[in-house]
Amino acid sequence: MRIAFLGLGIMGRPMASNLVKAGHEVSVWNRSARQHIDGARAAVSPAEAARDAELVWMCVADTAAVERLVFSDDGIEQSLREGMVIADSSTISPSATLRFAQRVAEKGVQWIDAPVTGSKIGAENGQLIFIVGGPAETVASMEPLFKAMGKTVIHVGDTGKGQSAKICMNLQIAMIYEGFAEGLTLARKLGVAPEKMVELVQASMIRSGVVDYKASFVLRGDYSPNFPLRLMHKDIHLLLDTAKEARVKLPALETVDEIYELASEEGWDDLDFAATIQLLEKWAGLGGPAK
Ligand code: NAP
Repeated sequence: MRIAFLGLGIMGRPMASNLVKAGHEVSVWNRSARQHIDGARAAVSPAEAARDAELVWMCVADTAAVERLVFSDDGIEQSLREGMVIADSSTISPSATLRFAQRVAEKGVQWIDAPVTGSKIGAENGQLIFIVGGPAETVASMEPLFKAMGKTVIHVGDTGKGQSAKICMNLQIAMIYEGFAEGLTLARKLGVAPEKMVELVQASMIRSGVVDYKASFVLRGDYSPNFPLRLMHKDIHLLLDTAKEARVKLPALETVDEIYELASEEGWDDLDFAATIQLLEKWAGLGGPAK
């Protein structure tokens, strides 16, 4: 299949590369340099990448970036033809997704929201989980593409529902991690060895995939970005805005947002979101990483 892939960051680069490995004809575009992917053609603009494509896949930072890729002067809107499909694996606003989908529908183009979970490791290993919104027939026709990049597709419902489910999932990741970080910090202050605390957590009913993934990084004090703090912070804002639109109150998330604000002021935006534990450690008078 002829695919344009736009956005070659932590997630997009391995995703595009896996599409090439699966035998697709891929043209790629990224805002800044770092355009090269073995076996793919580097395009000069989103519009040019999409010109001969049957499907355009995007994975960029946020709602504004998606809007830029699609609707700016050199955006893919210029190259849309009836029957094309746009798949968006960025995590963006559900309500903006609906607006974008309606606008491209005027040209006979379908919008599939397909945000992902699995982080950097899942993207590199082709083990992502896609959380999908859009017409069932189109989603089914994309099965070989999902398979090339991931292990599971959860079709949540119609357009926008993938983004809605994705942000509600990230709400829980942020909260579970915050619970782990606060529990670990207090335990350390009380003289409990961090590894023992992790062993207890993972042996009990509070075991979680979040801790499975993050514990070894936290114990080593390794906050190199898998899921950068700035992106989780962006998702927290997406959640608070979306909750406001839906007239839902999220008091615990509002508090977690304050922690991310302070972590951002510390200059930790490009570290992993796990770095937020360092604030708790600082406030507790605990120096350095858990180990
Ligand atoms: P990333 O490494 O920061 O990459 C972001 C990409 O977006 C880069 O290609 C960047 O281009 C591009 N971009 C940012 N602003 C842009 C703009 N205004 N116009 C055009 N391009 C723009 O982020 P990532 O980790 O790959 O994440 C991509 C998306 O997947 C995000 O929505 C994120 O929330 C979601 N996600 C990430 C993870 C994860 O663990 N990393 C997991 C699940 C979902 P430049 O290279 O020019 O900066």
